[in-house]
Amino acid sequence: MSELITIKLPNDMHVHFREGNLLDFAVNATAEHFHHAVAMPNLIDPVTTYKKALKYYEQIQTVSNHSHFKPLVTMYLTGDIKEIDISQGSSDSRIIGVKLYPAGVTTNSSNGVSNIQDCYKIFEWMEKYDLPLLVHGEVNNPETDIFDREKLFIDELMLITQNFPELRVIFEHISTKDAVDFVKDSADLVAATITPQHMVLNRNDLLSGGLKPHHYCLPVVKREIHRKAIAEAAFSGNRKFFLGTDSAPHYKNQKQSSCGCAGIFSASTALVIYLDAFDKAGALEKFEDFCVNNSSHFYKLAKTDKQITFKKEIFEVQSSYAVGDQEIIPFMANQKISWSIAKEL
Ligand SMILES: [Zn+2]
Repeated sequence: MSELITIKLPNDMHVHFREGNLLDFAVNATAEHFHHAVAMPNLIDPVTTYKKALKYYEQIQTVSNHSHFKPLVTMYLTGDIKEIDISQGSSDSRIIGVKLYPAGVTTNSSNGVSNIQDCYKIFEWMEKYDLPLLVHGEVNNPETDIFDREKLFIDELMLITQNFPELRVIFEHISTKDAVDFVKDSADLVAATITPQHMVLNRNDLLSGGLKPHHYCLPVVKREIHRKAIAEAAFSGNRKFFLGTDSAPHYKNQKQSSCGCAGIFSASTALVIYLDAFDKAGALEKFEDFCVNNSSHFYKLAKTDKQITFKKEIFEVQSSYAVGDQEIIPFMANQKISWSIAKEL
């Protein structure tokens, strides 16, 4: 009999469900295996107000085929946000926070923030109403080396945490040892999400022996020293680090192109990839903390009795998914993972 592990149904604290034809596919790929999931607001028409966030929530709920699934939505930080959006958002359990994109750093972020100090009034409201700030932590100066953009953003983030000591801040999809150290050294109100790719890949996996477009995301994966620090932070069980896949579907022809999109679709494979890494590190007893306990604690989320069971049995990731007449290539396509999902919910 193969080895089994059962945990409470995980939370994905950072995911892109997109819109239009992709919405149904992306929502259900996540809803199948997660309890909560935090939907990012960087749509073509970004989710910039409380009303727009509720509308996006309804669209997600409408396509979800899983009654256990509880989506959570965010508002995209722009000058459009008013104090009423923050106060209404904070008292509505469907709204989880406000997402800060420095302008131009990633997919659909051209409406983002150019000067973070301009948002200090909004941070004041968020601190007052206890609505978390989710941050894409990279500087947006196009001349800054792409491998340095996260590290250099930390000064900016430090100013935010110093000026707003009661604001809950989540440093999203961390990709450097510098970010790990910053979060560890900060107050308990500062946390971070960790993606499967930043846990298992370094930049050689992206660039050496041929360019791998399906390993390309932002922030870009970095040197081995950074990957190791991120993985160890997750394996340690430290409450400040939790699961956020940053699963972001793009069609195959947009990834395999002369100017390929940033983003990795991992919704259907992330859990077993994380689990395999925890197992190899001898850290299985911390897996449930990373997947569900740490994020439930930080975000004050309701618990579920629902569980998911994994078995130690080879699982081969499928080569692609059809969405309409297009294809989506999942993270680790065609590769063998040592764990599989044993019991559907
Ligand atoms: Zn993202």
